[in-house]
Amino acid sequence: MEMKSETIKTSIEALLRLQEIDGQLFQLNAEIKNPSPEALDIQTKLDELQKTFKAVDRVFRDVDRDRRGLELRTLTLKDDLKRAESKRRDVRNTKEEFAANKEYEAFQRRAQENEKLLEEKQKIATEKAAARDEKQKAISELEAKLKEIDENKKTRTAELQEEIKKLEAQRAAHISVVDESVFSLYERVQRIRKGNGIALVKGLNCGGCFVAIPPQLRYRLEKMEEIITCPSCSRILYPNDTENTPHSVAS
Ligand SMILES: [Zn+2]
Repeated sequence: MEMKSETIKTSIEALLRLQEIDGQLFQLNAEIKNPSPEALDIQTKLDELQKTFKAVDRVFRDVDRDRRGLELRTLTLKDDLKRAESKRRDVRNTKEEFAANKEYEAFQRRAQENEKLLEEKQKIATEKAAARDEKQKAISELEAKLKEIDENKKTRTAELQEEIKKLEAQRAAHISVVDESVFSLYERVQRIRKGNGIALVKGLNCGGCFVAIPPQLRYRLEKMEEIITCPSCSRILYPNDTENTPHSVAS
């Protein structure tokens, strides 16, 4: 497509700025969309901690159930002991006294054994409860941190959205000065290339796909009388010496 050198220059300069703005917009939108590495890290730790908590909690519950069983047994043994004691008071002869004493002593022994087991269980249950509470505390701390990050992210997102709004206004201003046919070509290439629609000529190669540009095409490019596209990647080409050279954005 043939056109005035001035139109080409204006259009290309606007497209270069546009491409830069699109790159910035892409990054801003990505920052909004992607969770921060810190948040991801905390979430991973939180998931692990919650798994550990569940395991520790299960152990605690098992121990505590045993402890309650022993507590119940303590009550039963107390009743047994009381009964054995009253039986001991009601003996009518030595033989009965002997038997009653024997029974009483047996219950007493059982009660003592049970008391010992209960003490041990209580100790273990206390330890397990402490381990569980420690995990719960760590979980709460991480959850608080995550919430804080989330709130900061909301503030940051609002700032980014402001920036995006400004850039979009600039974008519209640049588009308005680009020749219509050049712009539709740019958009077409951008869609195909998923990013850059315009490429700097680096040495003798296209800066977009690095394929060598034939001398004839380079000559036409320098003349600035038409829009030249890369024969390989279709990006709009522009000479390296164009003023206002932007940072090249790799696609
Ligand atoms: Zn190319």
